[in-house]
Amino acid sequence: MTGTGLTAADTVQAMNPDCLFCRIVAGEIPATVVYSDDGALAFTDLNPQAPTHVLVVPRRHFVDIGDLATDPEAGSALLAGIRGTVASLGLSAYRTVFNTGAAAGQSVFHVHAHVLAGRRFEWPPG
Ligand code: AMP
Ligand code: ZN
Repeated sequence: MTGTGLTAADTVQAMNPDCLFCRIVAGEIPATVVYSDDGALAFTDLNPQAPTHVLVVPRRHFVDIGDLATDPEAGSALLAGIRGTVASLGLSAYRTVFNTGAAAGQSVFHVHAHVLAGRRFEWPPG
């Protein structure tokens, strides 16, 4: 057993110094935090697409929703974070979006739920 006791999987999911959202979670980059708990953090999107537009991220690093699904505990933590965020913002109707893959619009490769509210949303989405 070496020093840290981390497994390879722990290392992959530990704080990634090259990841923007890991650095926000670590407090190295400022963000307007609207909700925080042990497993998740929510902060306002820099380029809002609705009157309310927040990003909810797991504190641990996962690339996308498929990666997150490999760890049910972390997946539950993100869902709980979404629930806590919408409760603290008092939202009764909102849209959640997970862009997965660059071709689908993902630009930050630390899984995040977009939570949008405060305007009408079209269906099907654009
Ligand atoms: P996506 O394109 O689905 O990966 O979403 C990434 C989101 O992160 C975009 O909506 C960006 O506007 C947002 N974003 C990028 N940098 C920051 C930042 N420093 N603080 C808050 N939101 C950011
Ligand atoms: Zn990250």
